[in-house]
Amino acid sequence: MSDAFPHLESVVKEIADEMRQRPDRGEVATYIPELARADAKAFGLVVIDADGNVAAGGDSEVPFSIQSISKVFTLTLALGKIGDRLWRHVGREPSGSPFNSIVQLENERGIPRNPFINAGAIAVTDQILSGHQPREALGEILRFMQFVADDPSITIDEAVAASEQRTGFRNIALANYMKAFCVLDNPADYTLGVYFHHCAIAMSCRQLAMAGRFLVHQGRVAKNGSSVVQAERARRINAIMLMCGHYDGSGEFAYRVGLPGKSGVGGGILAIAPGKASIAVWSPGLDHSGNSHLGRIALETLTKRLGWSIFGA
Ligand code: GLN
Repeated sequence: MSDAFPHLESVVKEIADEMRQRPDRGEVATYIPELARADAKAFGLVVIDADGNVAAGGDSEVPFSIQSISKVFTLTLALGKIGDRLWRHVGREPSGSPFNSIVQLENERGIPRNPFINAGAIAVTDQILSGHQPREALGEILRFMQFVADDPSITIDEAVAASEQRTGFRNIALANYMKAFCVLDNPADYTLGVYFHHCAIAMSCRQLAMAGRFLVHQGRVAKNGSSVVQAERARRINAIMLMCGHYDGSGEFAYRVGLPGKSGVGGGILAIAPGKASIAVWSPGLDHSGNSHLGRIALETLTKRLGWSIFGA
């Protein structure tokens, strides 16, 4: 049981029960055909507190496609690799636009607004790829995920990757557009191959909450655990998650939940309560911005009940 939050387990279970009963579940993504197979009724929630206690509710052990949540980890890796030089290829301002928007890219001469919209994440992946074969780069990303989650069983769902590879025309357009502006260093199809595959990593809420711990503890996997990144870097990644993690729904997420968070079109959200907890939620139905509808409501309920918003109780 958590000493700091004695009711954590019951709060998590309560919220999972409440969410299971709600009729409003949003729409499951279908533009990647393989994602359309997700069960709209699924709901999972896991909170790992500062002492490492795990509170789980609902389908907390079922793997789902993490999609854009992988962008938090590719950003971390790319910053580790080339540091501030990354910001020559991508900005760090909220976009106010949908995740797959191409309009802004033309106005801003091929430099994506931030690392979490698709164009920005493709530019980040391109930097991880430099100097490697696509297979090596992908292996590096997967191993990093397994390391931070402390779980070597995490894998890529090849069916999801192949499905997006067949149908990802907008991402192919974005990559080629950036290539035309010399923002990508590698062949666009190599970069896209790595991007589609890291988006197709499958994880459960428990694995995802484990993976987020280094953002709770100033770059360490636990209070006195081993260091993944410097404290300053963890703080900055949290800042980008807060401002950009939910695309054109980022303002609404900050307003309602008040935590750094990153969503994916598989219906997952990773949220960080700095110093307090790593939280993963999953419900495949999405709102109009492509963020998990019930996932956001569950997080709003959780932060309200526990007083965890970074803006005050
Ligand atoms: N792989 C998805 C895409 O590129 C990720 C989008 C998302 O999760 N928001 O469209």
